Amino acid sequence: MIPGLPYETELPDRVGVLVLGSGLAGCAALLAAAEAGQYAVLLEKTEAIGGSTVRSAGLSAYAGTDEQAAQGIADSTELLRKDLLETGKHRNDEALVDLYCAHQLDTYRWLKAHGVRYGEVHAASGQSAPRSHPTDTTAMLTMLLKAAGRLGARLVMDTPARRLLREDGRVVGVEVAGPDGPHRIEADAVVVATGGFSQAPELLARFAPQMEHALRAGGPGCTGDGLLMAWQLGAGVVDTPYVKGTYGIYHHPHPDEDGTGILAVYKGAIAVNREGHRFVDESLPYKEIGDAALAQPGVTTWQVFDAQVMAASNDEVPIYEFAGRDRAGMLLRADTVAGLEAEIGLPEGTLVATVEDYNRRIAAGEPDALGRRALSSSVGDLLPLEQPPFYAHPSGTVVLATYCGLTVDTRMRVLDVYGEPIERLYATGEVVGGFHGAGYMTGTSIGKSGIFGRLAGAHAAAEESELAW
Ligand SMILES: Cc1cc2nc3c(=O)[nH]c(=O)nc-3n(C[C@H](O)[C@H](O)[C@H](O)COP(=O)(O)OP(=O)(O)OC[C@H]3O[C@@H](n4cnc5c(N)ncnc54)[C@H](O)[C@@H]3O)c2cc1C
Repeated sequence: MIPGLPYETELPDRVGVLVLGSGLAGCAALLAAAEAGQYAVLLEKTEAIGGSTVRSAGLSAYAGTDEQAAQGIADSTELLRKDLLETGKHRNDEALVDLYCAHQLDTYRWLKAHGVRYGEVHAASGQSAPRSHPTDTTAMLTMLLKAAGRLGARLVMDTPARRLLREDGRVVGVEVAGPDGPHRIEADAVVVATGGFSQAPELLARFAPQMEHALRAGGPGCTGDGLLMAWQLGAGVVDTPYVKGTYGIYHHPHPDEDGTGILAVYKGAIAVNREGHRFVDESLPYKEIGDAALAQPGVTTWQVFDAQVMAASNDEVPIYEFAGRDRAGMLLRADTVAGLEAEIGLPEGTLVATVEDYNRRIAAGEPDALGRRALSSSVGDLLPLEQPPFYAHPSGTVVLATYCGLTVDTRMRVLDVYGEPIERLYATGEVVGGFHGAGYMTGTSIGKSGIFGRLAGAHAAAEESELAW
């Protein structure tokens, strides 16, 4: 329990806006609904707030921020839009991309006005300008929930929603699993913010069988409940072919692994398979590297780097926390590339030949063997791997988030399989599909949870009340 949050132990019978799920999407929706003057209540299935949000690396993708300006980074909403569509291979729902772009800066300012603070901005997957803004996600959710509580909103823990209730074609509330059995809560509008299904093996097997050998991470409650509840009412589902895993997870069980992994590749590492060969252009989005890694023999690969890459370690950004992993004993290390090759157990001479070829092409200005031109996306010049000591991080693919999901319109109303709104049913955050399309830019899942969560809460709050109070 976090002190100061607006916990409620009594299950309500009726509310104005009922929000399901306490990740960023749900917390933003709750606060926006409360700011609009509604009696808003959030139900959380588990004993802790935050779902995947509090397990994440905490990076949000915004363009044109104060932090970017302070670091001299030139970026714009137009460039963000272009990158989103290119990363999504133009399979995105453009209306949702435009919605993100139209509201990213006002949501960023709204979050900052509620006390959210961002650290040093970094480039990552799919970004042609550095725009990953790190933040402490637990602190962020705590601020939003406290602000909502001051406006009368309430938070009910340990209470899974089981079914959406519909009468005369419109959603009128939910049935929850209460301490004394099923309990009915009526609402003017319901916002589904239950996250994705990265922790539901049976749904992954159905929608993304290609992830069979990937590891899984994410909030323990992220089992696709909201997707199924809305699906039962005829909701459309989109983007399921594009579920991807993320590269960089430590590929052996380790007590210090938090599900985030590292992306030394974006600071200059190469990725090699168990034959000692590179297998992908390492500047690609980490989802694409994840797909490529899953196709390698034995699935485990290694990010290989040198002291120069290690010098770019940043303990504030989990994906760049190389030194921390070294301290935790998660890196293999040797004074020579041949020594590292032996440490990993690669066939003799293979890694040495791979690194020599990589370095020689950089020195000669020749094209990279796999078409790599930059460290990450189009940012950063390639670095030869030549400064000892040399390191290797056993790396694989993990499903962190599922990115596909319910079809929604630009008011975050859930659309049925024929594109018609299901009345008074809203959805936001990872449970929503359409926005990312066929690829994922770092920071846009936390980004969309905040932006679309705030919008969903405000639109749900605008529904006319038909409840007898
Ligand atoms: C290790 C890791 C690193 C990541 N890093 C990043 C990053 O840096 N940037 C980025 O953009 N994205 C990142 N992601 C993805 C991102 O964290 C999520 O997509 C995003 O936080 C989802 O927010 P959400 O509010 O939609 O869902 P969640 O934060 O998952 O919250 C959903 C909540 O709903 C609850 N719930 C589920 N079912 C029910 C029910 N039936 N009734 C009531 N409550 C229910 C769950 O218990 C959970 O608390 C990462 C994910 C992981 C796992």
